[in-house]
Amino acid sequence: LEPAYSFMIRTRTPGGVVTPAQWLKLDAIATTFAERGLRITTRQAFQFHGVVKTGLKATMQAINAALIDTLAACGDVNRNVAVAANPRQSRIHAAVYAQAAALSAHLLPNTRAYYEIWLDEERVAGSGEESEPIYGSAYLPRKFKIGFAVPPYNDIDVFAQDLGFIAIVEDGELRGYNVSIGGGMGATHGDPETYPRLGDAIGFVAPEQVIAVAEAVVTAQRDYGNRAVRKRARLKYTIDDRGLDWFKTEVERRAGFSLPPPRPFAFRHNGDRFGWVESEDGLAHLTLRIPAGRIVDGALDGRGESVRHLSGLREIARLLDADGGAAEFRLTPNQNLVIAGVNADARDAIDALAAQYGLDGHRSASPLRRHALACVALPTCGLAMAEAERYLPDFVSKVEALLARHGIADAPIHLRISGCPNGCSRPYLGEIALVGKAPGRYNLMLGADHRGQRLNALYRENIDEAQILAALDPLFARYAGDRRPDERFGDFLVRNAIVEIPERSARKNIP
Ligand code: SF4
Repeated sequence: LEPAYSFMIRTRTPGGVVTPAQWLKLDAIATTFAERGLRITTRQAFQFHGVVKTGLKATMQAINAALIDTLAACGDVNRNVAVAANPRQSRIHAAVYAQAAALSAHLLPNTRAYYEIWLDEERVAGSGEESEPIYGSAYLPRKFKIGFAVPPYNDIDVFAQDLGFIAIVEDGELRGYNVSIGGGMGATHGDPETYPRLGDAIGFVAPEQVIAVAEAVVTAQRDYGNRAVRKRARLKYTIDDRGLDWFKTEVERRAGFSLPPPRPFAFRHNGDRFGWVESEDGLAHLTLRIPAGRIVDGALDGRGESVRHLSGLREIARLLDADGGAAEFRLTPNQNLVIAGVNADARDAIDALAAQYGLDGHRSASPLRRHALACVALPTCGLAMAEAERYLPDFVSKVEALLARHGIADAPIHLRISGCPNGCSRPYLGEIALVGKAPGRYNLMLGADHRGQRLNALYRENIDEAQILAALDPLFARYAGDRRPDERFGDFLVRNAIVEIPERSARKNIP
């Protein structure tokens, strides 16, 4: 007899795109093998929680049968590549998504072990046929994250990525990408050697140069990243230790070309847009709010009513699968879901299903609730110090009440909660963020912008809920009285020097 081990499985789904048929298979896997339904991560992957050890292999095989894999979804390799979920510009999204999927494939490890262990392929280890020209014998010093943003939306938080590509669209055509390097969220409480950092834009590349520059950045980090101190192993520390100019020169040397200066672009915000929009090709796209990315039957919505999101999305997937059109499901980096590429005549049926199963929560939710993010944390994540996902609905209700008391219930404030300083919900880019310290206690971080271009700063350390609300109350009062037209909460706090943001925490080298 052995302990009842259970596991988390995460998919590799670049850009979070799956077909309705794949959705139905993932739903069946979640229903058969996992606890707590499907979960959308902040990197546009699916997570299955609570898969028991005896069901592990069958689950992996079922995922493979859905033409999805979990290869390199964890570990010291390039992780799931994030792509803007922007549904408005279908043609640009398709081009950027194809680029991201190709890069994801290019940066896969060559190992056959995955197939041997999970898919019963004949063992080839030791045959001498494997080589890892990108990862070498020891892989990367630490995980590596890549994302593609399409301005004016920064839903992927491109400056939080180790390597970010910012699409430059001129006259409706994709010209290439600005390249940003050295972003990362993770930190360790009480260790000033670790910190969140925003990426630096180092230049511009044409679409056909993306793979070369990505490989150059990845292999430079492979060769120069810190392998002695794991907490300092991310690319951001390599760049700070060796200097941005040195690293850029090294990337250019490896890529075989130099990078011209970044081109102008502007981000409007880093949230999602909810409801229906139409793209230039006449197709319709519906963004649904999925609280903390958890797709499950029986969850409570913001009004305390039980909703059946898993069943509802199954019905929508069946409808779209039978329709045979080009519709797809697109996970957003803010843990929401876009039903993309819908024919106009299917809209009413989808609306009816969304209403029937409580998937239309975005209509009634406050802006605060619509945009709030939380990592998994307790009880699933072994690193969690405090609650996040399970605490989010309650905490949002209390902040909503405070905002309403000051007459600013409609303030579109970005709130993020993480159960520990690793920062999976990108808390350091929240206008208000809680970072777990201990059960019921958090660091209160304030003052990020809403475009993903300025980190927040510590406002109060290690405080409980009552202290958090007491700290926010007078700030909301001042914001209600003194804000400028359209001024966001984070910007207001910085303008009034209520929080001081270190110079390095704001991205100033934006052309
Ligand atoms: Fe990530 Fe920490 Fe949240 Fe776990 S508790 S999901 S490691 S931020």
